[in-house]
Amino acid sequence: MKSDLAVVICNLKKLNFISLTMDFLDFHHHKPHQIGIYNLNLNEEIPSGKFSVGLHPKDITENWKSDFEKIKTISLSENCLAIGECGLDGLIDIDEKLQNEIFQAHIFWAEEIKKPIIIHCVRRFSQVLHYKTAKVSLIVHGFNKKENIAQELLEAGFYLSFGYAALENLSLQNVIKNIPIQRLFLETDDSDFDIIKLYEKVSEIKSIPLENLKNQMWENLNHIVKNG
Ligand SMILES: [Zn+2]
Repeated sequence: MKSDLAVVICNLKKLNFISLTMDFLDFHHHKPHQIGIYNLNLNEEIPSGKFSVGLHPKDITENWKSDFEKIKTISLSENCLAIGECGLDGLIDIDEKLQNEIFQAHIFWAEEIKKPIIIHCVRRFSQVLHYKTAKVSLIVHGFNKKENIAQELLEAGFYLSFGYAALENLSLQNVIKNIPIQRLFLETDDSDFDIIKLYEKVSEIKSIPLENLKNQMWENLNHIVKNG
């Protein structure tokens, strides 16, 4: 016979509540069936799970205005938790003024619908800092830079999300050690590895139980979704 607790958990599972607290949140990923925030491609159907949508700088074309209209419509869906990834990339051959214009358009839209922004940033952190006045939460995903850049972003109110690089990069592990846990997210992005490995590593770095870390990541998500 099942214990009372087992019955309660079983009922919650049926109601789909428990998945929010029992699974490891993957904050930004490209795998349609993973738990967390799926980065939707513009030509895809709206998924049944949670997702984000935005124009990645590398996907900017002369048709960006119509792509952006599409993003606006899709992002009104209840399952869309965030706008992005979008941002600034210093290594691609797209006019930087245009990149800034499009990034700003995403921010204005996110403010209007009160959803957080998942930022892609390559070599343009000082420019990204200028957007700190946005009235929604700003999360730099795939962060793999040095402590001083992390500190500047944290002081400006940004959140940082870490991926595969944090498993091996010691200086990045040091950044994680010093970041307030309320400003942290973990993600697989487009890498193929088990997110649990990253949770185990971070739980060791920050000396907190795995279970607490897991719950904190869901709390952080709740917080940014509530506050936009
Ligand atoms: Zn990505």
